[in-house]
Amino acid sequence: MSLHSVRVRFAPSPTGPLHLGGIRTALYNYLFAKKHGGTFILRIEDTDRKRFVDNSESYILETLKWCQIEPDEGVGYGGSYSPYYQSKRGNIYRMYIDKLLRKGHAYYAFDSDQDIEKKRKEYNHNGFTFSYNSRIRMSLNNSLTMTKEQLHDKLLSCSYVVRFKIKPGEKLKMYDIIRGTIIVDTDYLDDKILLKSDGFATYHLANIIDDYLMKITHVIRGEEWIPSMSLHVLLYRALDWTPPHFAHLPLILKHNGKGKISKRNIDNLNYPIYPIQWKIPKTKIIIPGYRELGYSPEAFVNMLALLGWNPGVEKEIFSLQELISFFSLERIKKYGVCFDIKKASWFNKKHLKKEDVFAFLFEKIQTRSILCKKDYLWKVIHLTMDRIHFIHEIWEHSFYFFISPSFYEANFFSKICHENTIDQLDQAKTLLCNININEFTSLNLKFLFQKTKNKYKIMQLFRLALVGVLKGIDIFIILEMIGKEESIRRIEKLMNQIKEKI
Ligand code: GLU
Repeated sequence: MSLHSVRVRFAPSPTGPLHLGGIRTALYNYLFAKKHGGTFILRIEDTDRKRFVDNSESYILETLKWCQIEPDEGVGYGGSYSPYYQSKRGNIYRMYIDKLLRKGHAYYAFDSDQDIEKKRKEYNHNGFTFSYNSRIRMSLNNSLTMTKEQLHDKLLSCSYVVRFKIKPGEKLKMYDIIRGTIIVDTDYLDDKILLKSDGFATYHLANIIDDYLMKITHVIRGEEWIPSMSLHVLLYRALDWTPPHFAHLPLILKHNGKGKISKRNIDNLNYPIYPIQWKIPKTKIIIPGYRELGYSPEAFVNMLALLGWNPGVEKEIFSLQELISFFSLERIKKYGVCFDIKKASWFNKKHLKKEDVFAFLFEKIQTRSILCKKDYLWKVIHLTMDRIHFIHEIWEHSFYFFISPSFYEANFFSKICHENTIDQLDQAKTLLCNININEFTSLNLKFLFQKTKNKYKIMQLFRLALVGVLKGIDIFIILEMIGKEESIRRIEKLMNQIKEKI
């Protein structure tokens, strides 16, 4: 098959928000499509109406948009293979059900849920597992065990399902691009339901019909679908269709490797599992996602891409375009990968753009009516940028370049509340006052204070006076940046506060 005609689909079920695994599946499909100049399709697999959750679809669309991996075709984008909702394709599925029935690849089954439950209990009781399969189907209530007339009557009077008739005795050989050859013994497969008693096709049938009709060339999806692969391949065969290529992606595991990240364990994790915020329809509670935490889409996508795929080069920071050109299904890992929130925030740091941080800081000082030159702002950004992982952190790491601290670190402040400190600060202040304003540079200041006794203590006191906490960049650079007058003002402020306390 020519890779020029690559058509892949992301086929989520609208059962709630996407989690990390879901959006990564979308991303790998997108990257693969773009790499080969193909088409990325969004199909909504909503055959299971019981599990339908309001707003899932708009959530999916918004997430893809935020990640900048929008589909070329499908729900929300249109295309020549519509409808892209499985719930609107019932007639199409019905046609193929009839075909499978006619060809003897499927049969009607009339066993009620209670009948099946009874059988299951019977089997369990005798130490066996019940499975509706080739071994026992001839002893059950289905069209294989009745005459044409009986079937005719039954169809008119009873509800029924349609099951796929699996042929036993075959070692079915399949190929997965990531995992290689997979062999399944058809003796162990059960006759899966294709059409439910409510008249809706099941996921399995709808999925393969749509993939065929939408000309999907590669099915890239989570590894939880490996057990369904044999059924899908057999369905393609029964319909005389060539199956697409398959690639099953590894799980994303929790940080400690203990189990996969899923919606069920969300409360025990101290990191989000959703890309963007999710408002629980019933309670209206909002669960924040990576977007709300301050991740940029570029960083989020870069982090996600490397969570299960090895680019094969000594490089970790990729733009979306670079990801596209490096991407290959063959380099996807076979085994589960652990999620690491520290690494995720590292990616965000690496993707921070100075211009964005500048814009954020500029707005911050404008809303506070602080007057300051653009050059000064740029200097601040250059000095503090390597301390932040997220844009919004810039203020807490740079406020002291613009405003005097509004509080002092309580612990340290209480320790220094005595006369002695006032004397030391007073002497240091005199030194500062004596420097010519043009010579008030970090180099000169460093040189000057190197010679004073108690220089470490003085530097700590300066830090408390200037920043309010014992953090921040080189104190002499801060002194130079905020200037002589402001430095002295803040030192006096601290002296006054100490005086008030003692
Ligand atoms: N609807 C399935 C899901 O939500 C998609 C499976 C597939 O991609 O074939 O996981």
